[in-house]
Amino acid sequence: MPDQPLPIMPFLKIPESGDPYLEGSKCKSCGAISLKARMACGKCGGRDTATPHTLANKGTLHAFSIVYRAFPGIEVPFISAIADLEGGGTIKTNMIGIEPDPEKITPGMAIEVTYAIAPRKDAEGGEYMTYYIKPVA
Ligand SMILES: [Zn+2]
Repeated sequence: MPDQPLPIMPFLKIPESGDPYLEGSKCKSCGAISLKARMACGKCGGRDTATPHTLANKGTLHAFSIVYRAFPGIEVPFISAIADLEGGGTIKTNMIGIEPDPEKITPGMAIEVTYAIAPRKDAEGGEYMTYYIKPVA
């Protein structure tokens, strides 16, 4: 079993020292930022123009859905959310730190990305680092 948690997604980076972060890609020719590297830029079509780019940990809530049905063992309800990050990049993850009540959640509200050990382990007992968004206090 590794002593360090593993990233739950390849774009979640865990430096040896310092805080975890999300790494997207930025197009060298048009500046478009996306979460995942692509064969060609989604905006300008440039090939081999993607360079690694650290995404901001702050942004705004774009959309959300409160999920009441899930696989056994997954606590419901939870908030599935999409957020636009400052400077570019869009992520999908769960929103925590707020009641799953549509009256209390507003698209456009300020959020920040937060990192935590995932509640479930793999078959070998390995831990995974995951990311969520939460309202900015
Ligand atoms: Zn481009």
